[in-house]
Amino acid sequence: MKKTVIIIGGGISGLTSGIYAKLNGYDAVILEKNHVLGGACIGWERKGCYIDGCIHWMAGIKETSNFFGLWNDVGAISKDSPFFFQNDFHTIDFGDKKFTVWADTDKLEKELIDFAPEDERQIKKFCKLVKRFRKIEGPVHKPVDLMNLFDLLKIAFTMLGDYYYVAKTSKLSCADYAKKFKNPYLSKWLADAMSADYNFMSFLYMLGHVSNRNGGIPIGGSVEIIRRMQEKFLSLGGEVKYLSEAQKINVYSGVATGVTLKNGEIINGDYIVSSTPVEHCLKTLLEGKYPLKSIDLRLKDEKTYPTYTYTTAVFKVQADLSSAPLSHVVYLNKPITLEKDYNSVSFRNYSYDKTLKAPEGYTVVQATLSGNDKTYYWWKNVKETGDYKAEKQKIAEQLLSVYIEKYPDLLGKVEIIDVISPLTYERYLNTRHGSFQGFVHTAEGKSLMQKGVIKGLKNFILSG
Ligand SMILES: Cc1cc2nc3c(=O)[nH]c(=O)nc-3n(C[C@H](O)[C@H](O)[C@H](O)COP(=O)(O)OP(=O)(O)OC[C@H]3O[C@@H](n4cnc5c(N)ncnc54)[C@H](O)[C@@H]3O)c2cc1C
Repeated sequence: MKKTVIIIGGGISGLTSGIYAKLNGYDAVILEKNHVLGGACIGWERKGCYIDGCIHWMAGIKETSNFFGLWNDVGAISKDSPFFFQNDFHTIDFGDKKFTVWADTDKLEKELIDFAPEDERQIKKFCKLVKRFRKIEGPVHKPVDLMNLFDLLKIAFTMLGDYYYVAKTSKLSCADYAKKFKNPYLSKWLADAMSADYNFMSFLYMLGHVSNRNGGIPIGGSVEIIRRMQEKFLSLGGEVKYLSEAQKINVYSGVATGVTLKNGEIINGDYIVSSTPVEHCLKTLLEGKYPLKSIDLRLKDEKTYPTYTYTTAVFKVQADLSSAPLSHVVYLNKPITLEKDYNSVSFRNYSYDKTLKAPEGYTVVQATLSGNDKTYYWWKNVKETGDYKAEKQKIAEQLLSVYIEKYPDLLGKVEIIDVISPLTYERYLNTRHGSFQGFVHTAEGKSLMQKGVIKGLKNFILSG
């Protein structure tokens, strides 16, 4: 009889676990708390418009990429999957001055030198680094648990020429790197581009892979990626239980045997995989009985290991915005205040993908403030004082005013159709502080190759 793997969480990681379990001859059941799969990789509909809640860029889409085989195995993409490759990555708008961050590195170099000739030497060095990072990718051929000395040496060997640059830039924050530039606008952009805490390597990695076309935006958005993965999982005979929130992982004599759902149902399996956010798994599902030193250290130190949060208002705009920038970062004359003053807003225009649903003549635009754990605490407090709905509306209206100031012709043509706060992510995903990805890669933080196995707990794997 086939052994059964029970997977808690049906995001990208849970689906990946389920597909590989099936491909390796196991039965697989995914328990998902929501009524759809996808987790953070999701889109939804409001007022006739599709709102993409995730993918701004997807890495590893070139057939030569380390990641491509993995994406292909799990059905997320194939060599024929359509992608949109953006020419303009961001338009950085300071009101009196603006420049475009082109995906094409040579074009970017020229744009930046024209903008800040006093920084020509640094700009050239910067663009050279972006090009270097085009070929740098993480190892994906094996989970960390299964790597041996030979595998680790192989990784070290393939990175030999680049190791110096990876090591150096991963210990440098974007804010510190920005200090190398004399031009105050350029310096500001570099400091803020990811979030000042981020290490510079992450920024180079992103620009490198976008410029290389190994990073693109999947046509059909996040839901299309998940639809294909779901189809693959189901076609292999996998089973999904929706609206099945796990409450507890059942452990007898050090062996994980099953899962108790919130509704009291018990689902037993031979192996249990948790693809939920890690803190939720360790503290809630495993009741804190199997702490991991490496994770605890990170959870306790929010300065070195912050999370990244979004506060977003979604606009339904009665206009064709094909000629507007895809991502327009607007620096503000008057800040928007949450737990701190936010001095810039990022507007993302979804006109690049005509397959995304919107009524004829309308375009979806998302206005985002990027924050961290502190933004989450602020929202939490607002909720506790009963002002959550009103604050969401207030902030969305402030974002709308900035948008209209920038695009005055759109006055009267923009409707706020949704507002998303870190509390939305927390409620929907059980994620730490409403963050939507792992810890921010800061310059001070140590990178972590986390094993999926937990000492003292058999038949259990941590994933995601
Ligand atoms: C706005 C936004 C933009 C992003 N942009 C990008 C991008 O451009 N490129 C990129 O690569 N990544 C991006 N990401 C990050 C990416 O989406 C995530 O890293 C990835 O989807 C995480 O997948 P996961 O399966 O590990 O976790 P999750 O997606 O969090 O999946 C966990 C699943 O577990 C479920 N769950 C939680 N608790 C329970 C429980 N107790 N019982 C049952 N089910 C449970 C959740 O509902 C969820 O479905 C973005 C994310 C967001 C939100």
